[in-house]
Amino acid sequence: MYKNYKEHLDKSLNEIREAGLYKKERIIISPQGAEIELNTGQKVLNFCANNYLGLSNNKSLVEAAKSALDDHGYGMSSVRFICGTTDLHKELEKKIAEFFGTEDTILYAACFDANGGVFEPLLGEEDTIISDSLNHASIIDGVRLCKAQRYRYQNADMADLEEQLKLAQNQRFRLIVTDGVFSMDGNVAPLDKIYELANRYDAMIMVDESHSAGVVGNTGRGVTELYDLKGKIEIITGTLGKSFGGAIGGFTTGKKEIIELLRQRSRPYLFSNSIPPLVAAAGIKMVEMMTETNTLQDKLHWNAEYFIAGMKKAGFDIKPTKSAICAVMLYDAKLSQDFAAKLLNEGIYVIGFYYPVVPKGQARIRVQLSAAHEKEHLDKALKAFEKIGKELGVLK
Ligand SMILES: *Cc1c(COP(=O)(O)O)cnc(C)c1O
Repeated sequence: MYKNYKEHLDKSLNEIREAGLYKKERIIISPQGAEIELNTGQKVLNFCANNYLGLSNNKSLVEAAKSALDDHGYGMSSVRFICGTTDLHKELEKKIAEFFGTEDTILYAACFDANGGVFEPLLGEEDTIISDSLNHASIIDGVRLCKAQRYRYQNADMADLEEQLKLAQNQRFRLIVTDGVFSMDGNVAPLDKIYELANRYDAMIMVDESHSAGVVGNTGRGVTELYDLKGKIEIITGTLGKSFGGAIGGFTTGKKEIIELLRQRSRPYLFSNSIPPLVAAAGIKMVEMMTETNTLQDKLHWNAEYFIAGMKKAGFDIKPTKSAICAVMLYDAKLSQDFAAKLLNEGIYVIGFYYPVVPKGQARIRVQLSAAHEKEHLDKALKAFEKIGKELGVLK
């Protein structure tokens, strides 16, 4: 049996290789940070991590995790509702709710699970989910698991959203779902306008703050801070795997009855393991740090503005962004790969994206800024971009 199946797999793998879409992993032998060391011995500046606040190897977080290892042990060997809940899990849930100005929080093993487990328990056949066309894969999968009717609107297109809301008026409940920041462009969902439309057409809102929490808004509380809507959005999901320390874990935070029902019915919560206490302890420390000072958020905002201004001045074509993502448009797939390879030789680690990750003819390099970057890192990256940009003839 396996012989035939193996041939089938080899054929699929070859198709992926021939299409130039085969993904390889680069191996890092240092902690995650602004400067990393690869197993090739190469030391590079990292501009492609979701390490927005530079917390992946933060000393205070490492200390908090170590001390939780000592007093709470390593793993929970249980889902939350059997015997997988410690005081640390409960405290982190409370802290996340305080951070976003919401009523309650439920933790998951990942935001993929939070999104996978949020729709099915809350909505049924008589309801409608209206989803942005660029929403994250985990939202798309979560929606598939739910019996609600599905409508889609073009990315951040409010006229289209209004059309879909009109079509959904006969349903029982309506939920608009959007990423806070769209990861390939760096644009922010127009939550102020979405909120207006939701009020006019009697809909609820869910925002996935995975790329916006810690980043967007003066104090990094995400798009609900940017648009002055803290506490007004029914459902927020997010990850502990990006700006919040970068380890593992996700959450849903929002109206308390919603969270209460998720604890009863959400399958990834009921049937998957509890996050390790050391991750919860570091998460608590993370929220405390971000509440005490705004140093990291301010530094990230400064870095992003400085880098983007430098790139524009150099003559690069940059997508409008309000996040720590800077999409450097090159349009051509091969050019994006050549550009990234040459930058690596200059000690700058970035990734070039092309179809099907982004639309055809929209290839780009995505740069992700971090509070871990120092000005000298940014200057080095700007210099390298300018050098390769000239070499490859892409500057305006
Ligand atoms: C990264 C990301 C996720 C997945 O988060 P994990 O915690 O890594 O599973 C979900 N949604 C969005 C918008 C993301 O960017």
